[in-house]
Amino acid sequence: MKNNLKNLLVIDDDDVMRQKIKRILSNSAYHITEAASGEEAEAILVKESFDCILLDYRLGDIDGITFIAKINVENATLCPIVMITGMGDEKLAVEAMRRGAYDYIKKDNLQAESLLNVIAAGIKWAEVEAKLQASQKKLEYLSMYDGLTTLPNRQLFLDRLDHALSISRRDKSKFALLMMDLNLFKQVNDSLGHAAGDELLVQVGKRLKDIARESDTFARLGGDEFSGILYDIHSLKYACNVAGKINAKMKEPFLLEGESIKIGIAIGIAMYEGQQTDVKSLLAQADSSMYEAKKGSVGYSAYNHAANSDDFAKLNPAVMITSCLSQSLDNGEFYMVYQPQVDLVTGECCGVEALARWNSPILGNIPPDVFIKIAEKSHIINKLTYATFEMTFKQAKIWEKGKLLMPIAINLSAKLLDDQDLLPTISTLLSQYKVFPELLTLEITETALMHSPHEASIAIQKLSDMGIQISIDDFGTGFTSFTHLRHFALNELKIDRLFIKDLREDGRDSSIVNSFVSLANGFGIKLVAEGVEDGGKLDMLKAAGCTRAQGYWISRPIDGEQIPVWLEEWNTKRNQPKHRLKVVL
Ligand code: C2E
Ligand code: CA
Ligand code: CA
Repeated sequence: MKNNLKNLLVIDDDDVMRQKIKRILSNSAYHITEAASGEEAEAILVKESFDCILLDYRLGDIDGITFIAKINVENATLCPIVMITGMGDEKLAVEAMRRGAYDYIKKDNLQAESLLNVIAAGIKWAEVEAKLQASQKKLEYLSMYDGLTTLPNRQLFLDRLDHALSISRRDKSKFALLMMDLNLFKQVNDSLGHAAGDELLVQVGKRLKDIARESDTFARLGGDEFSGILYDIHSLKYACNVAGKINAKMKEPFLLEGESIKIGIAIGIAMYEGQQTDVKSLLAQADSSMYEAKKGSVGYSAYNHAANSDDFAKLNPAVMITSCLSQSLDNGEFYMVYQPQVDLVTGECCGVEALARWNSPILGNIPPDVFIKIAEKSHIINKLTYATFEMTFKQAKIWEKGKLLMPIAINLSAKLLDDQDLLPTISTLLSQYKVFPELLTLEITETALMHSPHEASIAIQKLSDMGIQISIDDFGTGFTSFTHLRHFALNELKIDRLFIKDLREDGRDSSIVNSFVSLANGFGIKLVAEGVEDGGKLDMLKAAGCTRAQGYWISRPIDGEQIPVWLEEWNTKRNQPKHRLKVVL
């Protein structure tokens, strides 16, 4: 458009006719461009857009109907075409209109008024049509996208899932379906209001878009339910990595109404790997995994085809655990829980035992005694053990920031006593996290100690020289001759919970506890009873002269952040000042 004039293209191979049109429109609001052939017009249309085209039906190089079909395809923007027809061509003009021309005007009726009218009406029609198309597009968009997050909605997502399944079947490729559910969404809505809830969903949508590859689809299915398709991936491990990333991103605080809010997300994964399935089953699998994820602490879980197929019985669980273990350490599937110990004389908390937990997204929760035994069969135990040290020291640092200097006990697999890296690694980690060695106790099981006593005693001496405390775990189950123990630099015996379980005042186990007490006293070391499940047993152990106790009656193993809360409750129960902690070494 030049000087606010509308742009008009006149296509006619007849010079006289073009001049005539120009003359008629000379004082009007149109800027006129001329083309003497279809070819010339096409070249102009590539570079410029027009508000209206006047088209002679009979061009030298092309006829009007063919030309219209061509520019309608190539020139996507709406432009009304008015045909200029000669005598007797009305039928053809009507045909041209059926093919997309807006109107026609006869050459012998080429008056200013009628020409201006038909052009103005054509332009008006194009404007209305453009608006109509835009609103249709918007409607289409609204019916397929979520208005809040602008992510695809349920309908579009299901279409894409269907498509993914047929493409993957054909190409023999794999894809993962993720189902996600926000934690605490209802609480945000209830406490901060719906506007904040909406804002949260928008921010969640943005974070998902940030993580997604261009080819992935993330959608909002409704409420706080989101889902994703990761196309053409090679393994479940990749899907777990993505789930881990989403999880970490959703754990970062959201800023809502000026407040920093932490929520989190549960993610269920279902893999398509060429199995006989349909969209409905995949959705159900991802859904059930999502509920598993909600129960666990890793935040995501994958549907286990093997566990749900008849073949599972034939699989060796140890093989499955070994194969999952090797991947799990890097995926952050392990974490530590801490079980308090109390001093039986003062009643105060005197430390915690760190216990490893593994929530495998594939296998679910595997008990530590199971996976430790399997890890001990390979080098994985080394990596795993050092990871437990690092996680526990990190936690000790967090407690220390809250003015809590907490003695910690870590279980050390006897396999590690042979490891050349043991001393340097512990010493590096202690100084890296600035943890006093005196605060650290290593629990080593009695049976493991007796396996290669000479090597064990050398390693234990070196650890002891560093200032680290050594405890014999599960004591009483290994039938160690008491004199043997003299060879080890020990600070503590931990009575196996089997002996505590059936403890009765007059029973056999009580006399065993009494002999443990004399043994510990003889060595001048501490004696810890574990597995204390009721207060009566605590009193009995105290009366027998046992120095420390640990067990469900005092506290179950809990998350690190719960320890200060537990401590406050424990001290309140005992009428002690807040956070008072005596370090009994
Ligand atoms: P453990 O070292 O004897 O740990 C004590 C176990 O007794 C823990 O089981 C704890 O949850 C449980 N327990 C505590 N109080 C009670 C109670 O009152 N009643 C009963 N019935 N049980 C109680 P958990 O956490 O399942 O650990 C089992 C074993 O797995 C541990 O036995 C230890 O041998 C091994 N383990 C756990 N974490 C680690 C680790 O980080 N490294 C190594 N090497 N071994 C670990
Ligand atoms: Ca232990
Ligand atoms: Ca034990």
